[in-house]
Amino acid sequence: MIQRTLAIIKPDAVERRLTGRIIERIEAAGFQIRAMRRVHLSKGEAEGFYEVHRSRPFFGSLTQFMSSGPAVVLVLEADQAITKWRALMGATDPAEAEAGTLRKEFAQSIERNATHGSDAPETAAYEIGYFFAGVDLA
Ligand code: GDP
Repeated sequence: MIQRTLAIIKPDAVERRLTGRIIERIEAAGFQIRAMRRVHLSKGEAEGFYEVHRSRPFFGSLTQFMSSGPAVVLVLEADQAITKWRALMGATDPAEAEAGTLRKEFAQSIERNATHGSDAPETAAYEIGYFFAGVDLA
């Protein structure tokens, strides 16, 4: 089933000029990039995006980090795009990520972990709308 998911190249990776290398890996893995833009989130926008994590102890630190500099947001399309992209990213904590995954290679810590990916179809729909509302992705 062809699906879409939201990917983010997080501020830690953009700052270290890893955007091109990550996009290369995305395309090599067979995703189509349906939309892409660079964003610098405000603290409030980062809080809105991570609303489900508001009660977590790292919420303040995470939203500070995500609003600390520009990020690149993308809509990726592929068969089973949601699980396929999460597999390419690897585990949240780079210490637990498998060899060959983006987080194993590029993440600096469990928080500064280079990429984001939606975790379910409903989340993907919400997250794509968060950044690409009104954009024709056809
Ligand atoms: P993901 O779906 O793999 O991105 O992981 P989660 O949805 O659980 O967490 C969202 C984001 O919060 C992660 O990608 C990390 O940037 C950050 N994060 C998750 N767990 C921790 C933690 O224990 N400490 C800190 N500081 N950040 C975390």
